[in-house]
Amino acid sequence: MESPVWMTLGVAGALGASAVALVWRAAAQRLQLSRSKHRSLAGHARMARRIAAQMPHYEYDEDRFFCADGAPPDIAAQRQAGFTRLAELYTQRFAKSAALTSELRDYLPDLDFTSNYRVPFQFSRKVREALRSGSTLEAADGVHLVDVDGNRFYDLAGSYGVNVFGVDFYKQCIERGNHLVAALGPVLGAYHPLVRYNVQSLRDISGLPKVSFHMSGTEAVMQAVRLARYHTGRSHLVRFCGAYHGWWGDVQPGVGNPQTEHHTYTLADLSERSLKVLRTRRDIACVLINPLQALHPNRNAPGDSALIDSSRSAGFDRRAYSEWLKKLRVVCDERGIALIFDEVFLGFRLALGGAQEYFGVQADMVTYGKTLGGGLPVGVVCGKAQWMKRYRDDRPADICFARGTFNSHPYVMAAMHVFLQEMAKPERQACYVGLDECWNSRAQSLNQRLRNAGVPVQVANISTIWTILFTTPSRYNWMFQYYLRVQGLALSWVGSGRLIFNFAYDDIAFDDVAQRFVAAATAMQADGWWWSDGVTTNQQLRRHVLRELLTERFRAIRRQFFRQR
Ligand code: PMP
Repeated sequence: MESPVWMTLGVAGALGASAVALVWRAAAQRLQLSRSKHRSLAGHARMARRIAAQMPHYEYDEDRFFCADGAPPDIAAQRQAGFTRLAELYTQRFAKSAALTSELRDYLPDLDFTSNYRVPFQFSRKVREALRSGSTLEAADGVHLVDVDGNRFYDLAGSYGVNVFGVDFYKQCIERGNHLVAALGPVLGAYHPLVRYNVQSLRDISGLPKVSFHMSGTEAVMQAVRLARYHTGRSHLVRFCGAYHGWWGDVQPGVGNPQTEHHTYTLADLSERSLKVLRTRRDIACVLINPLQALHPNRNAPGDSALIDSSRSAGFDRRAYSEWLKKLRVVCDERGIALIFDEVFLGFRLALGGAQEYFGVQADMVTYGKTLGGGLPVGVVCGKAQWMKRYRDDRPADICFARGTFNSHPYVMAAMHVFLQEMAKPERQACYVGLDECWNSRAQSLNQRLRNAGVPVQVANISTIWTILFTTPSRYNWMFQYYLRVQGLALSWVGSGRLIFNFAYDDIAFDDVAQRFVAAATAMQADGWWWSDGVTTNQQLRRHVLRELLTERFRAIRRQFFRQR
């Protein structure tokens, strides 16, 4: 018989070995997680926020503004003359709109923010003061927008992606929808009977049997994630580096969200290492996909306020992205993880069946929004029955609760109703035939025209969603949005990062846009903004800015030190 001492030591030894194994396993998993992050700052949300919080403000004075890239005096003078000419044009053309916008800025912090963040902050104040174009619009028709000064623009902003079929289509959805529910009016809590058609139609389109209605894309994503957590009993969601899923904290870790997120893993897109994490961790409830990332995997949505050089890159590989989604489908099935396609942006834009049809992968839940509301605000989740149920038959108090006062609002349901009825028409479905070929060939022809004009600008696209790329290292690419505007091309506040076309653009309208686009680039080049010494690289431009930031930070610390003494 063994003595109690030996037994105790044996048990202690066994416990110790288990503890070491546990610690070892946890450390190995932690390492695996670290290795599955994208190496950019976008892949390291906390670090990005910490760095952003330390970034000092500074701005260029009158002289530096025009030669931040070390351009010689004659080029700086050329730029200055171009800037003054542009500012005069802006003052003539956008007087009323600019005045109204600057008044509103005092009361609308959102507008104040977007006005400030159109260009890199070192240049922002001067640009804001001189190139005041305004953010107010009075009318829209066809592919045009009209501002309060009566200027007509081609709409390349696309209402944040809502506008897939042209603005007149949405006006009709709303108008016809209003008549359908006029007898009921804005009565909430019960469903208008036309919801039956909406549900049937969404089931057919998504291939998923259950539907829930919300008020925005953000809320649809929140609900899908909550359901995934409820049904798996796991805590974490996985999003891929750079992907936007709305402004809810859990899906927006890092810069822009003051709170540290503890239940989100941001993994590298298109990466075997990320698959490994999904295969081994036990705390993952769902994987969120924003298929728009296929245009620029692992990168944040491109905006001109971050355009400090010309390293923005994009390129869409449909086959590679489809393969990736298929691998995710397999691993999610193996591990009981919910695969959620967030089609709030791309739903109904690539194909009637959305990204699921386009990439050939069935998700467990799909979120829609934007265009599906027929021009009114909406969020929708479609999902498999086992993911969408909000209570358990055997444990009645264990529920997953989510409502929202305005969910299934009759007027929204009615505009959606008209939208979905339109989608059922063969002539509407015909819009998708040859869609990619059409927009790819438009992009190629514009790229050819830009090359012929000898300007350092190209475009990349996924169907009707485009982004502008710059082929010569430059600090001034953000100026391009202002040249585009005087040519009558309206972009959203993120500038050249995202152009959103709609299906109402015919060849004539597109040709006109392309001509104006080239004219804008030619004018900007003539004003010297794309001057280059032929040797400076993008990396050197970035390093230069980094040095400026560090110098400013050091100065701020020194100032603080002397103030305290
Ligand atoms: N998901 C995606 C993919 C989006 O593009 C957006 C909005 N841009 C959202 C969610 C959030 O939608 P909303 O702005 O309606 O809340």
